[in-house]
Amino acid sequence: MTIRDRSRTAKQGQAAVILAASVILSVAMLLSGCSGEARYAACSFISMDTLVEIKIDAATPDAEAVLKRCRGITEEQRLLYDADDPASALSALNAVLDGKAAAVPADLEKVIAAAAGVQRDSRGAFSIFLRDVILKWKSAGTSDTPPEREELAELLPDPSSYAEYVHGALTLPAGCRRIDLGGIAKGAAEESVVEYLKAAGASYGILSFGGNIAVFGEKPGGGGFVIGIRDPDDGRKTVGTVELDSGYVSVSGDYERYYEIGGERYHHILDPADGYPAESGLRSVAVIASDGTLADALSTALFVMGKERALELYESGKYEFEAVFVTDGGVSATPGLEGRFEPSR
Ligand code: AMP
Ligand code: MG
Repeated sequence: MTIRDRSRTAKQGQAAVILAASVILSVAMLLSGCSGEARYAACSFISMDTLVEIKIDAATPDAEAVLKRCRGITEEQRLLYDADDPASALSALNAVLDGKAAAVPADLEKVIAAAAGVQRDSRGAFSIFLRDVILKWKSAGTSDTPPEREELAELLPDPSSYAEYVHGALTLPAGCRRIDLGGIAKGAAEESVVEYLKAAGASYGILSFGGNIAVFGEKPGGGGFVIGIRDPDDGRKTVGTVELDSGYVSVSGDYERYYEIGGERYHHILDPADGYPAESGLRSVAVIASDGTLADALSTALFVMGKERALELYESGKYEFEAVFVTDGGVSATPGLEGRFEPSR
């Protein structure tokens, strides 16, 4: 995902001025931390294992302090969802998940409820049960051989079993004792920051949490924010743009993260059927929704499901979202993006 200059029309050219700068800022701000500029104030930092970039109206009251707080909120969010950090709320929950119903702390409720719902509605394509499989891939990353398929199969619960999340309590199926929220956490964290920014009086904001983009408010110069969907094979090119007044664009792609093992690349979105990188024919999928947490979970789910099953979920109307599908053969979008999605020539 990139936010970049798409100066094909006067309206889009305006968006480009604001958005293209964020790409430049990503380098400059890493060196200098947070700072303000005449028209917008921006900061970028690394958290949740990703580059976070935030840009808001410079006229926001106490813009510098607001940006600093965004960083604090992101870190607080990481401390909820980071399964690798023993101090996180998720690690505390994982320590007590033992086959019986475990109480979910209030600040994990929204995310766990959403994750369990998307897991069920995607018929297991999105899975919070992959923690042990992910750890196997991580440790294989330091060796020269990928995990054996039999070894992974032993770590996967029955694919037809789901988590039960009822009245604040979570029960896992037999054989599963811990969960991973990596496919949904960045969207949830970004949503918390957006809510804070709106309450803090920012008239507009443009945020990027790795593959998750959020925009809100009145874009200077008017019109919608134009968001470029990256070419999976070339980070300097886009396959198309989506114009959005406000909301979230979450992208899951095979190029975003990977384990390099024995000279081969294995991307990070795993098929819960076998624990190996999903091969659904999609190179990436962008989900556009007004709920950032759902957008993140759905992009991971749809990537695993592939375009045909993804369209079935779209047509079921269970979730309100639109999507852009990128395959080796081309790019396509759901009908609701008519007039807002423009493929690159
Ligand atoms: P995303 O980049 O949002 O698509 O999420 C990918 C991350 O979610 C991975 O790095 C894993 O932590 C986790 N993950 C991998 N495969 C799945 C899956 N099938 N369902 C849910 N989470 C997954
Ligand atoms: Mg995701």
